[in-house]
Amino acid sequence: MDDVSHILDDLNEAQREAVTAPVSDLLVLAGAGSGKTRVLVHRIAWLLAVEGASPWSILAVTFTNKAAREMRGRIEQLIGQPPGGMWVGTFHGLAHRLLRAHWREAGLPQGFQILDADDQFRLVKRLLKQLEIDDARWPPRQVMGFINARKEEGLRPQHLDDGGDFYQRTLLRLYTEYEQACKRGGVIDFAELLLRAQELWRNHPDLLAHYRERFAHVLVDEFQDTNAIQFAWLRLLTQGRGNFFVVGDDDQSIYGWRGARVEHIREFQQLYPDARLIRLEQNYRSSGNILNAANALIEKNASRLGKRLWTADGDGEPIRLYAAFNEIDEARFVIERVQQFIDEGHRRDEAAILYRSNAQSRLFEEALRQAGIPYRVYGGQRFFERAEIKDVIGYLRLIVNRDDDVGFERAVNQPPRGIGPRTLDALRAHARDFGCSLWRAARELIDGGRMASRARNALLGFLELIDACDEDGDARLDERVESVIEASGLVAYFKKSRDGRGEDRIENLSELVEAARGFAATYEAESDEPDVLTAFLGLAALEAGDTQGAEHEDCVQLMTLHSAKGLEFPLVFIAGVEEDLFPHRMSAEDPERLEEERRLCYVGITRAMRQLYLSYAETRRLHGQETTPTPSRFLRDIPPELIEEVRAVAPVSRPWSGAGGAGLAEVGFQLGQRVSHPRFGEGVVLNAEGQGRSARVQVNFETSGSKWLVVAFANLAPC
Ligand code: ATP
Ligand code: MG
Repeated sequence: MDDVSHILDDLNEAQREAVTAPVSDLLVLAGAGSGKTRVLVHRIAWLLAVEGASPWSILAVTFTNKAAREMRGRIEQLIGQPPGGMWVGTFHGLAHRLLRAHWREAGLPQGFQILDADDQFRLVKRLLKQLEIDDARWPPRQVMGFINARKEEGLRPQHLDDGGDFYQRTLLRLYTEYEQACKRGGVIDFAELLLRAQELWRNHPDLLAHYRERFAHVLVDEFQDTNAIQFAWLRLLTQGRGNFFVVGDDDQSIYGWRGARVEHIREFQQLYPDARLIRLEQNYRSSGNILNAANALIEKNASRLGKRLWTADGDGEPIRLYAAFNEIDEARFVIERVQQFIDEGHRRDEAAILYRSNAQSRLFEEALRQAGIPYRVYGGQRFFERAEIKDVIGYLRLIVNRDDDVGFERAVNQPPRGIGPRTLDALRAHARDFGCSLWRAARELIDGGRMASRARNALLGFLELIDACDEDGDARLDERVESVIEASGLVAYFKKSRDGRGEDRIENLSELVEAARGFAATYEAESDEPDVLTAFLGLAALEAGDTQGAEHEDCVQLMTLHSAKGLEFPLVFIAGVEEDLFPHRMSAEDPERLEEERRLCYVGITRAMRQLYLSYAETRRLHGQETTPTPSRFLRDIPPELIEEVRAVAPVSRPWSGAGGAGLAEVGFQLGQRVSHPRFGEGVVLNAEGQGRSARVQVNFETSGSKWLVVAFANLAPC
């Protein structure tokens, strides 16, 4: 059994219990950093090495493609060989794989393509225009949200009732039209992937039986964030099977706004009555102060299963709080600290800057660029989402499937080739009237001889170009991509472009050829897999978030709090800890959503291993307006003795008395007054600045010297 010690050595007792449990339904319920992901990985290794499970019988769901890759790597390390044949991936990735294998049963064309959020938006916009529906009353984003939410609940238009309401009726009509447009184009969106996969099994009991038999082990990480349709899919596979191993943390459920249902974990034992429950309580990630702050914060939530983490680690450094004068000062401060950290000899990717809203990244990016520090926006503008990449993908999609309207729209006049809006409108009208694709409409209009000759020639040129690109089907994938780029004329077009991004775009195009080369080299076709180009397009749509050019480069990590889930970093900044920003202004009024925001804050804090900085700005330009935010209520949930206020090296001095005559007395202190602080002891008030909730006083403490403290958090008492 000596190969087993690899698997068990680095586990504590509770973790070991979970890893070695007899095969049955099992829930590991535990807080952040307690080793849930580690347990899941070791469990798979255990099943393979000890239970004699075949990799083929294992299905594991992770949260990102990156996590899936890491998981494979770890398992390979533990068992000493690559676990070929195992299904590890995200819900979307696994559903995609299933639908590729059974496209016929799923009612899809063989070369079906995936519509990402941006494609979906364009399609909805086009439909609104075609149907002459007012997009002020039915904004495309909302229509999209409606359609996705219904799909996530497993509902098709025929399951829905408009309740006699005109607004609802219009939404339903759009949903119906949207479905038809997708069907015509042979495309499916993200939510559809899951719904289709679930319907596939529901409608084909023989197929379901096959997969139930095959997957003797189903494992899920981050179980708290499964939505209705994902869970329904898992249930088909696991109900009554005794093979369901899930790990999760109800306190980290942060996707309720996108349909995730934390009840799945809260009610797991009702849904799987024989399930065993194992709790992990030791945290291995964060030092004591950070962990205590997280514990104290999350305790303020009413609805939780309840658990408290401890660490064998010392208190470590205090949590540092920085009150910036404005958002620019905040970015400057953060980047200065990042630089210091790097200068101390740390790797850049040990530092992460987290924020609530995507738009906050811009200033940090700018400051990092100015400082010459490489960075990576994790899950932000992604390689495969860049305009020029999507242009080429449009061509490729059309080559795979001429009826792909999204691909057609993208490629037809990019670069401009004299196909004007009137020609395109005529094509769309024809397509709508005859229920056919744009490609077919183009053919018919050309053949019908009803077009002006210039437009006709331009359009014919485009169709011939696509047909010609389709002829070298036997070439290597990267050669094909390269020749499509060549034929499209995009490079010449970008060379002439004056937006200053031409070179950048051309570089991205060659990077796409590289991506194709890499993909072709590792692509192993299983018998049910599509051809390599189709598979590559699937990757382009699915992997967008996870493969940025610079993945292996040592970069400072920028990401939203949501994308930080499951990750850990020695140094973490959480920026913009202000009311309206975090908690987000849309959530502050609703108690349930406020709890979700607090969980998000808990997720953020628990990403930090050694050092955690929180910052807020006294003034901030937000949505084009100058605002004067108050510090977030979440700061008050953290015991003040865990927090240390940081002062900028050369602050702009803004004496209190200058601003509207507010004085020290307003917050109950006088210059020269003696005060005491829970951690720093006694001292004398020397100075003050700022107003209201961001008011600070400088206190000269007898034992620890002079410090600036935020009155609202410092817990100062007169003495
Ligand atoms: P999250 O809730 O954030 O997803 P988690 O519960 O999945 O966290 P892991 O990421 O698995 O936690 O583990 C957190 C950290 O603790 C990792 O660095 C992991 O390697 C380490 N760790 C977990 N268990 C042990 C252990 N028994 N001994 C030493 N280190 C451990
Ligand atoms: Mg984890």
